[in-house]
Amino acid sequence: MTVGEVVEYLRQCSGRELSDMLRQVFAARPEGGDEGRAFQHQLVLAVATRENVAPDDDGIEWGPWTVAVVGGAEPGEYPVDFGGEPFVQYGACPDCQVAVCSHVKKACCPLCGRPVSLT
Ligand SMILES: [Zn+2]
Repeated sequence: MTVGEVVEYLRQCSGRELSDMLRQVFAARPEGGDEGRAFQHQLVLAVATRENVAPDDDGIEWGPWTVAVVGGAEPGEYPVDFGGEPFVQYGACPDCQVAVCSHVKKACCPLCGRPVSLT
């Protein structure tokens, strides 16, 4: 499989497939390793969003970027092949307080694994 074929596959797969595959890849990447007691790192898939805050309908004035990490479906809540929607469900992890988004309303925080209810 060529790099181009991999990119094309990832470009066309569902959000669920993309986030599931990347979560498995990121869990095994050395960039996601610990540095003893000093730091913990975790690669994550995230969605960066900014809003057009222009006062008139024709203007463009971008507000600040916000970032939400993409969480997978909570185990047992959806069929294994449930595609869901694009990453349009948003909320925050009650444990680590990061913004989380997902293709489903009942997701898991990709950092701590805790269930997160999204709307
Ligand atoms: Zn969390």
